[in-house]
Amino acid sequence: MRYPLFLDLTGRRVVVVGGGSVAARRVRDLVAAGAVVTVVAPEVDPRVSEQASVLRRSFVPSDLDDAWLVLACTDVAAVNREVADAAEQRSVWCVRADDASRSSAWRPASSQVEDITLAVSAGGDPTRAAGLRDLLAAHVRAGEVSHRRGRRDGGRVVLVGGGPGNPDLITLRGYRALLDADVVVADRLGPTRLLDLLPPEVTVLDVGKAPGSHVAAQEAINALLVDHARRGSLVVRLKGGDPFIFGRGSEEVEACLAAGVPVEVVPGLTSPVAAATLAGIPLTERGTTAQFTVVSGHVPPGDPRSTVDWALLAAADSTIVLMMAVANLAAIARALVAGGRADATPVAIVTNASMADQQVTITDLAGLTDGSTQVRPPAIVIIGEVVRALSPADEGASRP
Ligand code: SAH
Repeated sequence: MRYPLFLDLTGRRVVVVGGGSVAARRVRDLVAAGAVVTVVAPEVDPRVSEQASVLRRSFVPSDLDDAWLVLACTDVAAVNREVADAAEQRSVWCVRADDASRSSAWRPASSQVEDITLAVSAGGDPTRAAGLRDLLAAHVRAGEVSHRRGRRDGGRVVLVGGGPGNPDLITLRGYRALLDADVVVADRLGPTRLLDLLPPEVTVLDVGKAPGSHVAAQEAINALLVDHARRGSLVVRLKGGDPFIFGRGSEEVEACLAAGVPVEVVPGLTSPVAAATLAGIPLTERGTTAQFTVVSGHVPPGDPRSTVDWALLAAADSTIVLMMAVANLAAIARALVAGGRADATPVAIVTNASMADQQVTITDLAGLTDGSTQVRPPAIVIIGEVVRALSPADEGASRP
């Protein structure tokens, strides 16, 4: 069993037994840590005598009187054992350079990055420990591991586009912001599984709204962001897809700016684009179509609140991508057919894109108008010839 610990050696006596190159390195690190070092060895490397007081003779157990720690660094196992035994009798911790398994203490592979000390022990294998230490240090230096928590220059808000929901599909910038957050305000869609990785001191507020949310809820969310930031927190507003695509991100930005709270927006992989590609459907394709139009199907055609010109959309030579459209699919398909799109125009419906339960349903506009195709949200609906772009032979290989 091991019990990790950091030692404050400032002004404390540490004995190093041995005077070779291993001892020289240990003496250097101990002196750097502020220890008062005594070296015991019949012969010593000149680099040792420059840094520590030296007793030029063989080790005797009383050398450990008043010592806090001893390092046995000779190349004679019997001497190292004698040192370890004497240390044990005096309740002094002993690190044996030749045999960690017979030591009462071990030195980890360690590295200092800014104010972070990394220390790794890997089953007694110093090479593996050093490799892991280097890997971790590189991650910390690259900013991939949080090291700002607790050091705030004042509160602020970061709107993070989390992508379609699979935790792998968030950006690195978004992920880093999440790791640094004090408070996370999360939605129903998006990479909610990432929230399980956050340490317990992070406050997670779930404001996930079922379809049909109202203005009051949005105002309450805006107020939450502003309030927490004003109290000095780094607030991450984690949203599905991209914050500015049907995400009301601009309203949240405006609320922050109006309150004088600094705000940053991190783009995300928006679901209409991600869902198509994950289903193996190219939204544009040379020779088929040079445009795609992303449309909200939240308000059905003919509804006085509708701002979408469905007749114009039907007539345009564009792939149509519908979001928030599950409840209005039949009405939308009828409007598109009335506007001149063929009944046989292929349609792909991607539900739960990027998630383990992603499903791709292939149908056509007729299948939507007669109500024979039923799906549950969240769904992305792709209408146009590009749905057929990949031949059935390709399908098995590229569609999940
Ligand atoms: N800002 C988000 C969209 C939010 S609106 C973005 O950029 O993707 C919510 C709509 O997004 C849903 O009704 C659905 O049409 C779509 N959506 C979001 N995630 C989805 C997913 N994983 N699979 C299918 N559709 C999704």
